[in-house]
Amino acid sequence: MHVRFISRVLSAMAGPRPVVMSGPSGAGKSTLLKKLLKEFDGVFGFSVSHYHYVTREVMQADVAKGEFLENAEFSGNMYGTSKAAVQAVQAQNLICILDIDMQGVKNIKRTDLNPIYVSIQPPSMQTLEKRLRDRKTESEESLQKRLHAAKVDMEISKEPGLFDVLIINDDLDLAYGKLKDALLEEIQKVRDTNNS
Ligand code: ADP
Repeated sequence: MHVRFISRVLSAMAGPRPVVMSGPSGAGKSTLLKKLLKEFDGVFGFSVSHYHYVTREVMQADVAKGEFLENAEFSGNMYGTSKAAVQAVQAQNLICILDIDMQGVKNIKRTDLNPIYVSIQPPSMQTLEKRLRDRKTESEESLQKRLHAAKVDMEISKEPGLFDVLIINDDLDLAYGKLKDALLEEIQKVRDTNNS
């Protein structure tokens, strides 16, 4: 009883739970996110990606220690999302949105960040292909790469317990409603804290 109370107080002090939004490219993550940010002003935040803030040696050491949820290297520079950056958003009483891939999801599972795991999936491969083609952002080569990655992502995301919520983005308004339902408790927490 006391332990549960204390752990609730501690988690409230840490701020709202972050939200992981994962799923294949073209599934509709940015579209859903845009609706969310528009409806709930001042509730969500984004972590700042580490880049050039630290030296390469420091960053490599932090990556080795598991301080990063994601990291990548482009043209000789290292980029990454650190656990500390997510906690900084939480400390501002904002729900930190993490748009990360499956590897990032697996990394974050090893931390104590305790996010809500949401997977956004397309209704079918055919629909995904059509949406990606209509979006006109991909070359044929990158389209094929994304479709292949999507197949893998769709399979893995079915793994029991990996995601808290799996949303099939067929009808946009229905999908958005489900996303909102999944986040309502945290949204309410942010608002209550702001009003108290
Ligand atoms: P992601 O951010 O996951 O890569 P987007 O949000 O860019 O995906 O969506 C891919 C494309 O599909 C966009 O052109 C978007 O307008 C369209 N789209 C998203 N959701 C739906 C939906 N429910 N019905 C029809 N088109 C959609």
